[in-house]
Amino acid sequence: MTAWRIGTTVIHKVLEAEIAVSLPEVLRTDDSALLARYPWPAPDFGRADGTFVLSVHGLVVDTGARRMLVDTCVGNARPSVPFLRMLDSAWLEDLADLGYPPESIDTVVCTHLHFDHIGWNTRLVDGKWVPTFPRARHLVTRVEWDHRADDADADLHDTMQPLIDAGLVDFVGNDHRVGDGVRLEAAPGHTPGQVAVVIESGGERAVITGDLVHHPVQFTEPDVVGLADADAVQAAATRRAFVDRYADTGTLVIGTHFPAPTAGLLRRAGGAGGAGGAGDGVDGGVRFVADDGRR
Ligand SMILES: [Zn+2]
Repeated sequence: MTAWRIGTTVIHKVLEAEIAVSLPEVLRTDDSALLARYPWPAPDFGRADGTFVLSVHGLVVDTGARRMLVDTCVGNARPSVPFLRMLDSAWLEDLADLGYPPESIDTVVCTHLHFDHIGWNTRLVDGKWVPTFPRARHLVTRVEWDHRADDADADLHDTMQPLIDAGLVDFVGNDHRVGDGVRLEAAPGHTPGQVAVVIESGGERAVITGDLVHHPVQFTEPDVVGLADADAVQAAATRRAFVDRYADTGTLVIGTHFPAPTAGLLRRAGGAGGAGGAGDGVDGGVRFVADDGRR
C-alpha cells in the first residue's frame, strides 16, 4: 500500500484494479507517439507498445480527527458497468486491514458520479444494495447531482438511491469546505459538477485530481481531451487553470487514475523546480515528476 504525509494528515491509496489501455481507448488522440515524447516516472505511464496503465483506487484522507474517503472505485458485482464488470475484489477487506473498517469512515467525497468513483458507495447484501459506509456523510456537488439525477443509469441508481433513502447524502457547493484542512475545488469539464480535493496541513498541500486528467501528459498538453470528457473546451480550460495554480508550488498532485507512483509534482521547464527543468526536452511545458520522497 502507498501512503503520503501532508503535515499531520496521512493519505492512503487503496487499489482496486489496474488495467492496461491503449491511448485511443482513453484519450481523444491519433498521435501514437504522444507518450513516447516525454519521460515518465515509471514504465506503466508509457509502455513501448503505446499502452499505459489505468489504476482504479480510492484514497483515504486521515487527518487524525477525521477519516475521509475520496472516491469508492467500481465495487463488486456490478453487472452493467463499461469495464471491470462483476468484480469480486477484496478492496473493502484491504481498507479494513489498513485500519479503516467501513463504519469508521465519517466522510465519503465523490469527485463526480461516474461508475468507477462511486461503486463501493453501496454493496450487495442478500440481494439488496445497502450503504457500505453507514456512518459517513456522502458529499456530492449539487451541480453534479442535478446533471445526473434523471439519468436512467442502473449503476447510478444502485450506488446513490440507497444513500439518499438513508439520508446519508449532502449536496454541496463545488467549493465546499469539508473541514480539517480539506476542501473541494471546482474542476468542471469531465463532468459539469466534478471537483478536485485539496488537502492542507502544516504548510504542506496535496490535491486529488478527480478525472480532470487520466494521464499526466494532459498537464503538459492540456488540449488532449479525455474520451469521457463531457465538455472538451471546459475540460481543457480546467486543466490549464490547474497547472497555473499548482506548477512549481510544491503541491503533491495525486492522480485518481495514475498507476504507481500515483503522486508527483508539476514542474515547469526552466521554472523554480530545479532538477528536470531546462534541458528535459519539454519546451516551456509542465511535466509531472514523481514525488521526491521528502515526506
Ligand atoms: Zn474515472
